[in-house]
Amino acid sequence: MTTRSLDEILAARLDDLERAGLRRSPAVLDGPTGPRVTIGGREFLLFSSNDYLGLANHPALIEAGTEALKAYGAGSGASRLVSGSLRIHALAEEAAASFERREAAILFPSGCQANIGVLAALAGEGDVIFSDALNHASIVDGCRLSRARKSVYGHGDLNHLEDLLKKERGQNRWIVTETVFSMDGDAAPLRGIVDLANRWGAFVIVDEAHATGVLGPTGRGGLEESGTSDSVDVQVATLGKALGCAGAYVTGSRRLIEFLRNRARSFVYTTAVPPVVAGMAIEAFSLVDREPDRRDRLAENRRRMAEGLRGLGVVIPERRSAIFPLVVGANERAVELAGRMYEEGVLVPAIRPPTVLEGTARLRLTVTASHGREDIDRVLNVLGRSLSGAA
Ligand SMILES: *Cc1c(COP(=O)(O)O)cnc(C)c1O
Repeated sequence: MTTRSLDEILAARLDDLERAGLRRSPAVLDGPTGPRVTIGGREFLLFSSNDYLGLANHPALIEAGTEALKAYGAGSGASRLVSGSLRIHALAEEAAASFERREAAILFPSGCQANIGVLAALAGEGDVIFSDALNHASIVDGCRLSRARKSVYGHGDLNHLEDLLKKERGQNRWIVTETVFSMDGDAAPLRGIVDLANRWGAFVIVDEAHATGVLGPTGRGGLEESGTSDSVDVQVATLGKALGCAGAYVTGSRRLIEFLRNRARSFVYTTAVPPVVAGMAIEAFSLVDREPDRRDRLAENRRRMAEGLRGLGVVIPERRSAIFPLVVGANERAVELAGRMYEEGVLVPAIRPPTVLEGTARLRLTVTASHGREDIDRVLNVLGRSLSGAA
């Protein structure tokens, strides 16, 4: 029996994290997110948010949220299956299905809960889940909860995936991947994955968190861009990134959605999404279509950032997303670099394990539609100086 208090035990664990360069505490913003934010009264350029289209402070989104609050109140009052399903939830789900041109959709309070709920509900004992090595933590957790056997393929490696598909037998087989990988910014080979799934017999689940609103001619994401919408069984997408609000949705066939409504525990056993979120989501879908110039500005900013980083000697492989990783390796080095940039008024936190693999600590820069050219030039300038200073 231990004689140490819980506080002592936790203090020791936090010290371990500190020594490994892994102890974290968030910067607290005084006001809203955006290309410029204030922290403790000081202005910073922000290059790490996922608000890719700059919708998080869009007046129309705020207005739609306010209207929903007024019409439906602050809380939904219960879980969806008890008495928390309000008209605005149904409208948001119709809007999501219609936005994605799929039969049906279901809202989840978060993308984390969506992945966990989907995987645990669909896959089960006797099944095999083929999962990309760099999939998000919530996909990893969903696989664990499902009790299916997990077979991890090398990141984006179709040959490896095919080898595993040939070897691993199971009752139902599932391939799960992100469209755009959250910490690397590269895209999954969706076309190839779908072909393998057809050839070897597997269902495909795709997480579009960083692709929705960003990829595809009309911003529908990686499925639209790669023309694989009809071959993917389950699409998970989030509302808290490019769509500027919060929460997530899953789309697919009417049967799939009805099944999830019955069996996804992170949907069934949680209070319904607040009406304000559903109201904002409806408006966000409409804004993606009404303001396509935001995607153009984002594309322009992506180009400018990629060119600038290449100019600094940073290796930038083909990136179709708005995420630019600058891998430095050691945790301390990433923290030091982020610290230098912070001193110069640029907020780009260090990303460390377990968010990324051991030895691949990095700065993860993101650009949004609301950054100006001068913002990007400034961050590149500061980055150039910080890199040479920290070398
Ligand atoms: C952010 C993210 C999620 C989680 O979405 P939340 O709505 O923030 O919980 C899921 N998957 C991926 C790939 C993500 O990047």
